[in-house]
Amino acid sequence: MATARQTILVVEDEQAIAETIVYALQTEGFGPVWASTLGAAREALARGGVALVVLDVGLPDGSGFDFCRELRAQHAVPVIFLTARSGEVDRIVGLEIGGDDYLTKPFSPRELTARVRAVLRRGTTATTAPVPPGWTHDAARCRITFEGQALDLTRNEYRLLGVLLARPGQVFSRDQLMQAAWEDPGAALDRTVDAHIKSLRAKLRDAAPEADPIVTHRGLGYSLRETP
Ligand code: CA
Repeated sequence: MATARQTILVVEDEQAIAETIVYALQTEGFGPVWASTLGAAREALARGGVALVVLDVGLPDGSGFDFCRELRAQHAVPVIFLTARSGEVDRIVGLEIGGDDYLTKPFSPRELTARVRAVLRRGTTATTAPVPPGWTHDAARCRITFEGQALDLTRNEYRLLGVLLARPGQVFSRDQLMQAAWEDPGAALDRTVDAHIKSLRAKLRDAAPEADPIVTHRGLGYSLRETP
């Protein structure tokens, strides 16, 4: 590899798991640094240059969730969670916590390095604009949930909603939405956007009948409510 080794901070208290991860990352050309406690992780982050954090949820001196929130307040560094419980997954992918991806234990070292690469390639876009409460957006799996319900979306609906979710409160014109969400915007019409907004609203109503998260701005376009 021509580029310098990217530093990956591995926060994991189980030595056997940590060693497997460190070895796999080294083999793939990364520069892993192991921290077995949150205290050690803080010190490693303070030294700077960390490209990504692999973060266990259960650690001897605190929770990986709290640590991720703390981290998010100061750094844009991407985080991949390691979790032993699949029930934690929805909290992780919810940007309420700010995880970029997760792996459920046990996982293969190959799977981990593939995720590390994918998240680094994607950059930190998944976490730069926190989604509003009630939403989760798992960009790696093209999955959006609203009020705990997974939405069954068509490709264009997913992309349209993804654009709105990335900037809550911002008003997008129909043209902007089309440019951002359609592969061939020239072939779409303004009313295509309206039709997709309509079908999106119907699906959101199914998920949460009381909520009406998409706002129409007459003559301007649409936005997503910042608060439920
Ligand atoms: Ca642990």
